[in-house]
Amino acid sequence: MSKNPGLLSAPVRVFWELGLKSGVSRERAFRTAEELIALKVFYVTIRPADGQSARLAAELIEKSSRFAHITLSVASPDAFPGQGKTVGIKALDIYNFPAGRLQESTTILKNAPAGVALSVTAVPEKGKLDGLLEIIREGLALGIKIFSLANPNLVNIHCSGADKPVPPSPSGGEAVSRFILGKSDREYLKRGLEALFAPHGDEARLLVHDLFLHEALNLPGLGRAEYAGCQAGDAIAFIAADGTVYPCATLPLPLGNINGESLKDIWAGAARRKLRAEIEALPGVCAACGLSARCLGACRGLAFASGGFGLPDPSCGRDEQSGGSVPGEKAS
Ligand code: SF4
Repeated sequence: MSKNPGLLSAPVRVFWELGLKSGVSRERAFRTAEELIALKVFYVTIRPADGQSARLAAELIEKSSRFAHITLSVASPDAFPGQGKTVGIKALDIYNFPAGRLQESTTILKNAPAGVALSVTAVPEKGKLDGLLEIIREGLALGIKIFSLANPNLVNIHCSGADKPVPPSPSGGEAVSRFILGKSDREYLKRGLEALFAPHGDEARLLVHDLFLHEALNLPGLGRAEYAGCQAGDAIAFIAADGTVYPCATLPLPLGNINGESLKDIWAGAARRKLRAEIEALPGVCAACGLSARCLGACRGLAFASGGFGLPDPSCGRDEQSGGSVPGEKAS
């Protein structure tokens, strides 16, 4: 059965890393912004790679903010466009700052336009969970109420700007394994998060992208809309700093490049259709599992990067976690 029978004609959400130094010209960036408006892409997250790209981001925000819900994602202090330059954004996200350095975002937060939603995003990684908890503790102390645990940006880790498909490989598996939390990691994270969030009641919110991590954390108030499976290349698109379009930052399989094609053509192209068919075909081991109707193969990006679409999501840990059930669910 198809998980996402719609195969959307435009993504609902585009994550765009702006990198003038990586080969996307100002002209091409503006043309892409015009395309996003014409395609009626509603959720656009812009993440400038550096100060120069931050200035361009400010211009693109000014051009697009009447047409889209724009989140400015800031991954380093010098990538913030500056006070008064981000009018029109709806949200400001501090993305994956190193532990102990969230204080450096204080100036950014102070200079955010009034009324925007402020959030902190972190990527859980083995051996760095104390750092992640520290980031959240710092964020809560700064008055931030929205926190997000995201899947890793494997495009940046794997491809380093390559514009051709990166074949699944064992080295890919090694790069992915540090993001796959085991049972004890998840329990440790759950205890830490419970302690941090308890004093804040309903005021603070935690969003967890990964299905298995979401279920393992099982924190009070951790709601989730109905799970529809991996949205890579359907509702989600990622534009890397060099202009390469990927189905998602966690799925390092290039679909095209905005330097050579329009986003519309890339989205309508054969590469995306093939990708969606591969995403929707469950690996054999998942098809034979009684729980696949629920996880729908989960993160196909993690599976692809760990060796190919024929593998299950390495986060599944069905046997390790609960003797045959999805983590967080009683074994039947
Ligand atoms: S590949 Fe799919 S499940 Fe994984 S992070 Fe991207 S959209 Fe989410």
